[in-house]
Amino acid sequence: MASSSSIKSRHVAVIGAGAAGLVAARELRREGHSVVVFERQKQVGGTWIYTDHVESDQLSVDPTRIVVHSSVYGSLRTNLPRECMGFRDFPFAIRSESIDPRRFPSHPEVLAYLQDFAKEFGIEKLIRFETTVVRVSPAAESDGGEGIGKWRIESTEKEKKIHRDEIYDAVVVCNGHYIEPRLAEIPGISCWPGKEMHSHNYRLPSPFKDQVVVVIGSSASAVDISRDISGFAKEVHVASWSNPADTFIKQNGYTNIWMHSMIERVHEDGSAVFQNGKTVLGDVIMHCTGYKYHFPFLETNGEVTVDDNCVGPLYKHVFPPALAPSLSFVGIPYRVLPFPMFELQSKWISGILSGRETKTMKATFEGLGIPKRFTHCLGIDQFEYYDWLGSQIGCSGTEEWRKEMSLPIFLRKMKHPESYRDEWEDHHLVDQAYQDFSLYIS
Ligand code: FAD
Repeated sequence: MASSSSIKSRHVAVIGAGAAGLVAARELRREGHSVVVFERQKQVGGTWIYTDHVESDQLSVDPTRIVVHSSVYGSLRTNLPRECMGFRDFPFAIRSESIDPRRFPSHPEVLAYLQDFAKEFGIEKLIRFETTVVRVSPAAESDGGEGIGKWRIESTEKEKKIHRDEIYDAVVVCNGHYIEPRLAEIPGISCWPGKEMHSHNYRLPSPFKDQVVVVIGSSASAVDISRDISGFAKEVHVASWSNPADTFIKQNGYTNIWMHSMIERVHEDGSAVFQNGKTVLGDVIMHCTGYKYHFPFLETNGEVTVDDNCVGPLYKHVFPPALAPSLSFVGIPYRVLPFPMFELQSKWISGILSGRETKTMKATFEGLGIPKRFTHCLGIDQFEYYDWLGSQIGCSGTEEWRKEMSLPIFLRKMKHPESYRDEWEDHHLVDQAYQDFSLYIS
């Protein structure tokens, strides 16, 4: 630990005012840094700002398209219980003014929660709305011998009417990772006459009335969207790599959903042939195949790359060793509890930037990048990661109730996708959570 006289206040840019950017801004300011948050939308909330708009290219591959940020669809309810999901010291508890008091609420409740968070901690005044960061690059300007490189941030405000070119001591990247789609490779697709789209551009089921829809994927969005669409579509066929090659199962409880193995090939006549040998005449292929990390504004002379969907090298998924601590990322790991993780990462970054943990960090930054694919998938290891972060910043580890509540969710989601949000038995854990919450809510 550094002495209080050696604590430094930095001028920090935060990119994005979603859940990650909001809590990063709060923690940086609490630590005494001056903060500017850049946000290209008109309000806080990031991916939770639902919009009817979709991209002109519904596969989202055209680099010149106007990007629609949100991937949220109309019927979306959270896939985590609200008690686990919220920030540790600003619980996502049921309030008298809750729009949707359910444990797994619909998306407007999450947006309202994030808006409340921004209001409670006075974050909005730190944000430059409708301002897009177009370039982040190392600044030639000297760091005054402090060993922390500076960054040049170029941004455009209000449809490019105002250009800014500024220097910051540090940049915290919180731009979200559910925007740049990953697509399945399908032999024959260039001649297939039907419509292709990515779940990023899915909003409502009604446009699929009487259609035959092939959904690719097995994650939460594939599960939710196939069921959403089945109320309107003639048939829904779900293709997944994770199913054995002979899979052909009618989905329990539905008359028009079938589970298949992966698509083997599609043909000019509109047919899709699965590895199980079945053929359907499809109208639409919907890729529910996830997203890629994407930092179109970031120039680091090759120090940070995205390779096989691994951002790296990054120490503890946060700091690129060669550019630490002036460049950092919040929110890279997945299969996590996003909001509490953002909070811990942000506290750590804020403390490192002020110099409170200088000695430890200088020693450990060297050569500790972790390579490649699945690097950022934490799953069961997430709690060890949170505890490690907590130990760096003098914060208690994850609450037992949060661990016990969240661990079975993944399995329950897979086994009972229709009911896991509305039927549960962990009432005692909910009681424990609300006991803890009483410290923060009146
Ligand atoms: P985002 O919310 O995406 O925010 C990033 C912000 O950065 C945006 O406001 C964007 O406009 C801004 N931005 C990007 N680039 C620039 C730029 N160049 N200049 C200026 N601003 C920029 N998590 C849960 O905890 N529970 C759930 O139930 C859940 N369900 C989900 C369902 C879906 C369909 C998706 C896509 C995600 C879900 N998540 C869920 C994960 C969710 O993404 C995180 O909870 C969290 O909201 C991500 O926050 P973020 O701040 O990292 O990113």
